Amino acid sequence: MLRYGVSFHEAALEDTVLVSPGGDTVDDRSLGAVAAPINITGYHIHHPIHEARPDIEAAAHVHAPYATAFSTERRLLEPINQEATQFFEDHALFDDEEVQILSADGGKRIAVALEDNSHVILANHGVLTTGKSAAEAVAWLVEMERASEVALKAQRPVRLSDEATRIARDDLVRPWSGWQIYSYLIRRHLPNG
Ligand SMILES: [Zn+2]
Repeated sequence: MLRYGVSFHEAALEDTVLVSPGGDTVDDRSLGAVAAPINITGYHIHHPIHEARPDIEAAAHVHAPYATAFSTERRLLEPINQEATQFFEDHALFDDEEVQILSADGGKRIAVALEDNSHVILANHGVLTTGKSAAEAVAWLVEMERASEVALKAQRPVRLSDEATRIARDDLVRPWSGWQIYSYLIRRHLPNG
């Protein structure tokens, strides 16, 4: 996880903290440095998901503007544009007022809502995406933010048919898609990185 107190825009690899399944930090640099070396709420959300879904290597969750706004509508993304098709039949809704996850029990409830989907919309909170790597999870987070933006901006959207949606989804979501999207993002935003 990211070391507590480090902003995303300034985060570097050395700001990541290895956290044990029990929630302890396995990182000498954090010990004694600050009272809370990690955002414990993040642990409450992420750990139960990893426990419930060993196939998931990474989960990503931030309060991105459009996805957070969309989450207040407490519904799934409709397939109304190309980005949204990528989430068709592969995301769930955690329809709960528990926006402050005070314990791992809250994370367990999110994991239950996730079921065998890849991603979940957390009502009135934001979204959580997953992947086989951190890069994939981040890529889907950005794609879900874009799909949320379209969902909120479209005035009178007409939904794609299930058939057309599945054709688009199956062409777009491939084992390497997340990594490819992530690599575009890195080249776009960190050209010298
Ligand atoms: Zn959150």
